[in-house]
Amino acid sequence: MDLSSKYSQGDLLRDGVRIDGRGVRELRPIKLEVGVLSRADGSAYIEQGNNKILVAVYGPRELHPKHLARPDTAILQCFYRMATFSVEERKNPAPSRRELELSKVIKGALAPAIFLRNFPRSTIDVYIQVLQADGGTRCASITAASLALADAGVPMRDLVTACAVGKVNGQLVLDPNDIEDKLGEADMPVAIMPRKRFITLLQMDGRMNKEEFIEAYKMAIEGCMEIYKLQRQALMERYMAVRKEFEEEGGGEDA
Ligand code: ADP
Repeated sequence: MDLSSKYSQGDLLRDGVRIDGRGVRELRPIKLEVGVLSRADGSAYIEQGNNKILVAVYGPRELHPKHLARPDTAILQCFYRMATFSVEERKNPAPSRRELELSKVIKGALAPAIFLRNFPRSTIDVYIQVLQADGGTRCASITAASLALADAGVPMRDLVTACAVGKVNGQLVLDPNDIEDKLGEADMPVAIMPRKRFITLLQMDGRMNKEEFIEAYKMAIEGCMEIYKLQRQALMERYMAVRKEFEEEGGGEDA
């Protein structure tokens, strides 16, 4: 559907209130869950506003075909896919150029956090299924994928947390949704390793001047730090549940 026929620029921001009722520096509501799939080595689920995304991680494991294996390091493979029902008009099930591009972008954002060289000749595979999309899926996917990697026990330097900043009617807005993304003037996704404040992704679609860019960057970091707290909380909940299960089974007691 052509959003420009349903909404106009003026609808996006009225007296500092956005089309979904948020303030300009407000994230969408976020729900994070770790360890949601029993068949995967690690998994996570994220809801960020209307985005719903599931991530499954396998590995480190043997790579097939073997000739693609690297003798000095593991390779990271990311597969970002959108379900046919994830957007308003049915999406063609064949992987689109956008999905291939986002798979590469997400891989680039996650790879610096992983000790890939600890696992020569192997692969770590990250499968991302977007069940419902509403803008900012690459960032939400990165946030969830780093949790799924941690859940799989993959050794990491840090988690990776991502958040975008948009520009609508000349005003910077945190975590733009689909309408803001499509009708806005700019969209800047950022991913960081939060403890080190190391940037692993910085993209810009549209235009911002230098002052806007600096402010947008600060807003993105603030957004990431808020999300990072939720990531840690989700991991903690997962491990408390695992520990409880272990204790209930009598684990840890001398036979
Ligand atoms: P991101 O999801 O990271 O913001 P894009 O900027 O490419 O990536 O996409 C913005 C939004 O456009 C998506 O989150 C989704 O809501 C919407 N979108 C993407 N692909 C399609 C599609 N094939 N049909 C309809 N909407 C789409």
